[in-house]
Amino acid sequence: MNRLLLSLGLAMLAAAPALAQDAADSVAPEAATEDAEAFASISEPARKALEARQSGVPTEAQDWMVAAANPLAVEAGARVLREGGTAADAMVAVQAVLGLVEPQSSGLGGGAFLVWYDAESGEITTLDGRETAPLDANPRLFQDEAGEPLKFFDAVVGGLSVGTPGTPRLMEAAHERWGSADWSGLFDEAIALAEDGFTVSPRLAGLVAEEGERLQTFPATAAYFFPDGAAIEAGSRLTNPDYAATLRSIASEGADAFYTGEIALDIVAAVQGAEGNPGKLSTLDLMRYRVVERPAVCAAFRAHEVCGMGPPSSGALTVGQILGMLDSYDLAALGPESPEAWRLIGDASRLAFADRDRYMADSDFVPMPVKGLVAPDYLASRAELLAGDDALPEVAAGNPAWDHAMLLADDESIELPSTSHISIVDAQGNALSMTTTIENGFGSRVMARGFLLNNELTDFSFRSQSDGVPIANRVEPGKRPRSSMSPTIVTRDGAPVLVIGSPGGSRIIGYVAQAIVAHIDWGMDVQQAVAMPHFVNRFGTYDLEEGTPAADLETPLTELGYEVSVRELNSGLHAIAVGDGLKGGADPRREGIALGE
Ligand code: GLU
Repeated sequence: MNRLLLSLGLAMLAAAPALAQDAADSVAPEAATEDAEAFASISEPARKALEARQSGVPTEAQDWMVAAANPLAVEAGARVLREGGTAADAMVAVQAVLGLVEPQSSGLGGGAFLVWYDAESGEITTLDGRETAPLDANPRLFQDEAGEPLKFFDAVVGGLSVGTPGTPRLMEAAHERWGSADWSGLFDEAIALAEDGFTVSPRLAGLVAEEGERLQTFPATAAYFFPDGAAIEAGSRLTNPDYAATLRSIASEGADAFYTGEIALDIVAAVQGAEGNPGKLSTLDLMRYRVVERPAVCAAFRAHEVCGMGPPSSGALTVGQILGMLDSYDLAALGPESPEAWRLIGDASRLAFADRDRYMADSDFVPMPVKGLVAPDYLASRAELLAGDDALPEVAAGNPAWDHAMLLADDESIELPSTSHISIVDAQGNALSMTTTIENGFGSRVMARGFLLNNELTDFSFRSQSDGVPIANRVEPGKRPRSSMSPTIVTRDGAPVLVIGSPGGSRIIGYVAQAIVAHIDWGMDVQQAVAMPHFVNRFGTYDLEEGTPAADLETPLTELGYEVSVRELNSGLHAIAVGDGLKGGADPRREGIALGE
């Protein structure tokens, strides 16, 4: 029996710690041992939750739970929930702290998508807090004078890539709609940590050191991350008085304090004044920014409904397509150790990504076959293509019910560890799944008022047309760039059973789909499901997670006809299973925990 069979087999025999610990040790060597010291100041329950994650078992609770990428942020959310606050209240507190302690991944300067299950009505809805392109932008934003696409990082670093942030308005909209706690109090914890200082985590320090020069392009950013010229170090105490002041304004005046007035002026000055690569964001863009409530996109999978974020995210449609195609195949019987299971998952993903690349963008700007893409008859016809024995020799977009096809160039962006996912269930039974981002690690690298500004606009296609045919995801003024973020709530008989999501660029889709299969078909608990070694296929190579038993499938998958790439795969899955009580899982590849009572 090879290592994969052994580990997965053990996992199936409920020896979960072996599998989870395997992933933790091999993927994030800094996390398992240094976490305990780095988070020495955290509460006893949070420390226990950290130990649970490190030994590969889920945390358990009865009333409420919060899972996110940093213990300090989780503790802030837990305090709100313990005092009777809703999941929306807790999210505000978690996001405010994440923007401080995990500034490279998400924050006030970015955007987010939120999926909400309402206990009272039993309904699921979504809030779109995605960044928008400035009104002054045009389809050639990321092209040189000859119309050629800019190099990725030439576009990213500076003001040009900065879209109108959506996260502050999203926090406010969610609180107005579903919150019950006093708004201003939700920032107390983050303000105190920013003023008194927080302990720099190994992950943040490591990423700052790796970034080196790029992060020193702009003076305000250099001064914060390289005080006295040297990179901040793990375990050191860092204060951020500018961030505290920004939070104080938002706490007392609401999100208007961010979108109008002094803070807005400073954001615009930082973007338009970014030396070497100024951007186009204006005070008008900030003033007119709106969060959009949109219907959830749901797909059926084994008597469950898998619901998430529709356009401008490709997340729910692509996750839904993958699972919808797999619904006709008995993955439970095949088991997680079977190359045949991974052939089915891999090719379902390739087919779904072909549709994604053809059809998906901001549906407020581009007509899209949203319903047709997850229609059961369409998915059944696509699933028939998986009936063979080998990898599909060719994969192309299908023809969902709608014929307004548009070409979409391969605008794959380079991925660095960024973005963050928050899962919360409150004592009232509401569930919240929110993926939040500033896009690339450290976003545009431009900082204003104590937070980093996003580079979300580079999620648009750099090319605007292909052989004269317009590309759906091209830049247009006011448009939202296509995302892969897949905040998800899985229901059964109308009640939530799994709240899940992850960072990871377009690999998010694979991470989330695989964890749902692992949980539902292979019976893994949430911690096993998020820690399990990754197998991700988008539209190119079959990516297997380096240093884990997944890599042992390199030969069988190559023999099936895939081009295989063994590589690091940076997920950050945070999940809560709802059933007989609550069980939480936190990705061992990051620093987070799941905490509940
Ligand atoms: N900006 C990406 C998106 O919206 C997410 C980036 C990441 O997960 O690292 O799809």
